[in-house]
Amino acid sequence: MIKEQPSGAEEVALRERVKELSCLYGIARIVARHDLSLEEILQCIVDQLPQAWQYPEIAFARIFLDEQSYTSPGFRGSSHRLKSAVIVDGRIRGTVEVCYPEENLKLDKGSFLKEEKKLIEAVAREVAFVVGGREAEMNRAKLNEQLQHAERLATIGILSAGVAHELNEPLGSILGYAQLAKKSPGLPQQASHDIEKIEIASLHAREIIRNLLLFARQTNSQKKTVNLNDVVREGLYFFSSRCEKFGVDLVHLLDPCLPDINADFAQMNQVLVNLVVNALQAMPDGGRLILQTKSFKHRVSLIVEDTGWGISEDVLEKLYIPFFTTKDVGEGTGLGLPVVHGIVTSHHGSLKVKSTVGQGTRFEVHLPALIS
Ligand code: ADP
Repeated sequence: MIKEQPSGAEEVALRERVKELSCLYGIARIVARHDLSLEEILQCIVDQLPQAWQYPEIAFARIFLDEQSYTSPGFRGSSHRLKSAVIVDGRIRGTVEVCYPEENLKLDKGSFLKEEKKLIEAVAREVAFVVGGREAEMNRAKLNEQLQHAERLATIGILSAGVAHELNEPLGSILGYAQLAKKSPGLPQQASHDIEKIEIASLHAREIIRNLLLFARQTNSQKKTVNLNDVVREGLYFFSSRCEKFGVDLVHLLDPCLPDINADFAQMNQVLVNLVVNALQAMPDGGRLILQTKSFKHRVSLIVEDTGWGISEDVLEKLYIPFFTTKDVGEGTGLGLPVVHGIVTSHHGSLKVKSTVGQGTRFEVHLPALIS
């Protein structure tokens, strides 16, 4: 049998098709490598892309993803390019592009083939696939971690609630007798001074127990229709004199159309107080405290922002661990944020924190709005 030789045009087309398939195969192999990070995968893809084009020696490639760009060596931007959007979960997250430098147009090098248009679309789809896959993996790992964290918190909650109950009674007696003894006539000055110390220490211990019970949600929660603006307004009344004393500017930005939520007013107040106390402690030399409410879709948010010393990365990881504190004895119990976390979670909400050391911290509490 005599094999028909391909014509010149057919041969070129065939060569291009082989290049295109090799490119897609190369990308599929890169994408399958689990030892590479997403950034490394995108860089490998972009390095490989120019070879699949008709004039590989003058082609440059670039991938944009979420404002981050990855380019082939010596990349030079040009308006003469092929471009395709990277769409992940229906949202445009970036682009894949291949271009020829403008001066090459004169040499008639620089026109793109029909197949190359299809190829760049296929590459963009592949990039979207790997981005989506990696993010799903990360979300799964994060969810798992959150679940473990929640379980740990629940166990600590049950244990500590038991201990707190046991301690409540003897502590009440210590405090009561100390207060009685303080009133005894003719008490030497030293004794009265010591009794005062017992009283202060017992009050501090009582505060820890109150927080522990709150943390374990052993106090009854009474949910009803609440507007977070009212919680903030009530709080402002108490915070303003403290802010003045510390040289802190207190700013409030309340959304006038804030939807109601179904919540326990006292617990919401506790959330605000705990966040504000931390914010004030982080600004010993003054600063600005912003209390804000806003709503987005079916969510209502309470934001507490300070211009304090900020939180370092390693502290950020431990924020919600009960008894974790960076403060001196008597200044902090390490229960403020676990209590906030517990309350917010029991209201089906979420808590977010953003912080920059030396600049400040922003806590955001998001809660489901009541749908009227
Ligand atoms: P406590 O305030 O009793 O230490 P918390 O659970 O409220 O306990 O906070 C834990 C730690 O988180 C604090 O010791 C502090 O290091 C850090 N922190 C919380 N809020 C802020 C803030 N607004 N600015 C700086 N650090 C903060």
